[in-house]
Amino acid sequence: MKIGVPKEIKNHEYRVGLSPASARELIANGHEVTIATGAAAGIGLDDNAYTAIGAKIAASNEAIYADSEMIVKVKEPQPDECRQLRRGQLLFTYLHLAPDAEQTRLLLESGVTAVAYETVTGPGNSLPLLAPMSEVAGRLAAQAGAHCLERAQGGCGVLMGGVPGTEPAKVLVIGGGVVGQNAAYIARGMGANVTILDRSISKLRELDIEFQGKANCVYSTTESIERYAIESDLVIGAVLIPGANAPKLITREIISKMKPGSVVVDVAIDQGGCFETSKATTHQDPTFVVDGVVHYCVANMPGAVPQTSTYALNNATLPFTLAMANLGWKGAMQQNADLLHGLNVHDGKLTYQAVAAAQGLEY
Ligand code: NAD
Repeated sequence: MKIGVPKEIKNHEYRVGLSPASARELIANGHEVTIATGAAAGIGLDDNAYTAIGAKIAASNEAIYADSEMIVKVKEPQPDECRQLRRGQLLFTYLHLAPDAEQTRLLLESGVTAVAYETVTGPGNSLPLLAPMSEVAGRLAAQAGAHCLERAQGGCGVLMGGVPGTEPAKVLVIGGGVVGQNAAYIARGMGANVTILDRSISKLRELDIEFQGKANCVYSTTESIERYAIESDLVIGAVLIPGANAPKLITREIISKMKPGSVVVDVAIDQGGCFETSKATTHQDPTFVVDGVVHYCVANMPGAVPQTSTYALNNATLPFTLAMANLGWKGAMQQNADLLHGLNVHDGKLTYQAVAAAQGLEY
């Protein structure tokens, strides 16, 4: 199959759809991989990294869209990219179609077959192509929070691990899923005093065994959220209610009771945020202050570390990319119902119920 990788054109997107290792695997399976020139510059790789493993270089994204049977990328196609897609072509990328009527319309008009990373499922209803980005965001959350605690960033000037003879920072993680677990892991590694709140008892059991007493795993209630938030130096919001906006678990009133210079990192901002005072920020201007509390609310946290994010994403996507290249998308989906759940658009029709419902369209 002819597989093409365009350079991402969304603002400040530096990741790339196929790493050289993924491209090499596809080529070893008899496929032809072409990458747009400079597509991997954002992760510090030049075209030679791809030609060295047998990939071809295209002079432009237009050439990739014109010549490829399968397009592998990272972000949802921008309007200009959608207009270059066509019937019979396969697109494999993040789409996030539910809130995006324009992209949905353009993909339907193009006739393309579009498989969304975010709706491919795994064992136990997991989302294996979303998980790596949650892992990255969780680990970054502790790192970003630690930085914001520095006095020069507006924080109260507490070191996460303290030093012998002083108290470590108190860190509260609300939501112990993929983001929360990874945030807690790094905060613990930095030596902070960590509490994780979740309302799933089974999740708390898992975390309790995993952290072996090195993090407090506590049931999430209005009372426990308020009590721990007020005494914490850093609060990381990592809740998710699938398919819904994040619940506002930390009210403005709780923020006003927090210590001056304490920090909140709202990872759930991409679902509206779980702090009442949150509003989305960017990597260029990541923080703002409300009632003396520093807020970090970057909606695309993995974008800060495109190398790690590209490789983590590729590790998760490669088996599916390979299956669709080897068997065709229909053959691959006949063998794997999890991949079938990724099919969002085919031949001018929506094939994913939640997207159709969100936009009042036919399914
Ligand atoms: P997840 O489903 O793995 O975990 C969410 C957890 O929240 C679950 O364990 C659930 O039980 C818990 N929860 C739900 N309601 C709760 C409550 N009231 N109190 C305490 N816990 C509660 O989800 P995830 O992959 O960890 O993602 C978490 C959030 O981070 C999502 O909104 C996701 O979109 C977001 N995210 C943001 C970025 C970013 O760049 N900002 C990147 C990745 C993920």
